[in-house]
Amino acid sequence: MDLSIIIPIYNEEANIPALYQRLLGVLNPMELAYEFIFINDGSRDRSLALIQELAAQDSRVRYADFSRNFGHQIAVTAGLDLSIGEAVVIIDADLQDPPELIPDLYAKLQEGYEVVYAKRRTRQGESAAKLLTAKMFYRILANITHISIPVDTGDFRIVSRKVVRALKQMPEQNKFIRGQIAWVGYRQTYLEYDRSVRAGGATGYTYSKMIRLALDGITGFSDAPLRAATISGFVVSGISFLVMLYTLYSRFVSGDYEHGWASLMVSILFLGGVQLIAIGIIGEYIARLSANVRQRPLYIISDTNVPSVLPETETAH
Ligand code: UDP
Ligand code: MG
Repeated sequence: MDLSIIIPIYNEEANIPALYQRLLGVLNPMELAYEFIFINDGSRDRSLALIQELAAQDSRVRYADFSRNFGHQIAVTAGLDLSIGEAVVIIDADLQDPPELIPDLYAKLQEGYEVVYAKRRTRQGESAAKLLTAKMFYRILANITHISIPVDTGDFRIVSRKVVRALKQMPEQNKFIRGQIAWVGYRQTYLEYDRSVRAGGATGYTYSKMIRLALDGITGFSDAPLRAATISGFVVSGISFLVMLYTLYSRFVSGDYEHGWASLMVSILFLGGVQLIAIGIIGEYIARLSANVRQRPLYIISDTNVPSVLPETETAH
């Protein structure tokens, strides 16, 4: 098998037929042995039925159906686990990632790279808020991690089997795949593309899912927030100490200590705020620690046509 195409699916009934046609149009001229791996991540529309129809006509179509919605990053992880291609492409189902870029990605990989990621030159049809928060997130992340996670890229990319093998050794529960791939190392490069608007349907990435992904990215690859909490603790303690000296001075030396309400409120609110933020940051890390200690399977497959996964038993990975 030369090439696997991993496609996470969450309510994509409007896009699956067009996506399949466009992928065929691109892949067939490449004259490779390839497979599609559709991961149905708990869709509530006709996505699974459409995928099963494709699988019935085309033996290159593999799929796994999750028992519920586990999230985009977990769906991609399952795709990586089930894929057998020497090269593996990760692509969104909504045609925001142009399938037409795949031959270029593949050609670049053959030049001796292990990862070729697709970098967004432009991004159409996203709200100003999403563009701004995404831009800020990638810049902050780049600044506080010691691995270089490329800015302005999603998961659209091609990786070699070597990289897939490395990823399979990374057991963390909170997946941030683009960070993991950066962490793996090897020779990596990129191609630029213009990201188009979603072809049909609506985004499956709610703001809460985006915030979770951002926190997984930061906590998975940086201790900077913990350090910031410690440093702000020292700074605030330093200021409090000075204020304390001033208070003692007012009480015992200058004797001017009547009207204290405003300063009391300000310092209590400020200290309370800083403490809560610090506890919250620590909590984010502890939550992830406990998720990893529990060692639950990352996902449950309820149905699949992938031969390596036993069809009768519900298989957990
Ligand atoms: N997706 C998924 N599970 C989810 C949310 C999204 O598998 O819980 C898939 C979705 O079907 C698509 C890809 O992940 O193929 C990217 O999602 P989307 O286009 O909604 O994200 P956006 O482009 O808006 O960031
Ligand atoms: Mg999209």
